Amino acid sequence: MAHMVTPSVATAWTVADNLAAVSRRIATEAHRIDRSVDDITLVAVGKSQPVERVEAALQAGHRVFGENRVQEAAGKWPDLRRRHDGVELHLIGPLQTNKIRDAVRLFDVIQTVDRPRLADGLRREMDRSGRECTCFIQVNTGEEPQKAGVLPQEADAFITRCRADVGLTLVGLMCIPPADEEPALHFALLRGIAERNGLSGLSMGMSGDFETAVAFGATHVRVGSAIFGERAGTGPG
Ligand SMILES: *Cc1c(COP(=O)(O)O)cnc(C)c1O
Repeated sequence: MAHMVTPSVATAWTVADNLAAVSRRIATEAHRIDRSVDDITLVAVGKSQPVERVEAALQAGHRVFGENRVQEAAGKWPDLRRRHDGVELHLIGPLQTNKIRDAVRLFDVIQTVDRPRLADGLRREMDRSGRECTCFIQVNTGEEPQKAGVLPQEADAFITRCRADVGLTLVGLMCIPPADEEPALHFALLRGIAERNGLSGLSMGMSGDFETAVAFGATHVRVGSAIFGERAGTGPG
């Protein structure tokens, strides 16, 4: 497919159009490298967006969403779920241990497991509530001090611990590359860690780099502004 989709911000965009355009770009990239588009899940990131935009995505038939704050998700998703069946909600932001109970109640997938206390707490709460969340481990591939995630050199041991000792339902790894570095290097690093640990899930790629992420094997891309437009408030959280 030689067809290129040019995002048009100036014309009156709709969430449905943007969703379709992002999906086409994912499909085009998957096709180019001979991957099945069915192996790539588009996680629509609705954080800091007016709820009407999220509602528009639901009305367009989209069902997989990401939120980075437990509090914000608690404010909008119980109601949205009552009105729309089949929603799959991913937590993509840092999780404090005092919010574990709310997180397990609200989310289907926790992408940001990154320390033993959190892993243990999640296991305990899932046993208590009888609700099993699927988990990803976040890896701080850029080794940025201010960023969450287990360090690359500690990843193997932590993965083993989460799987064998804690007993989490672990499906993959997640990363957020440093803003000023070539994301491909980080995607390749994450993929290598996943491969040597026998994990098939790779959550990587955002609005600016999801096609690159698909080329490097992403199974989940987390796309916000390319679907919903610019967020209110301060930059990417
Ligand atoms: C906000 C956010 C995204 C989406 O960012 P966009 O650049 O708007 O696509 C993806 N992943 C995480 C962890 C985020 O916090």
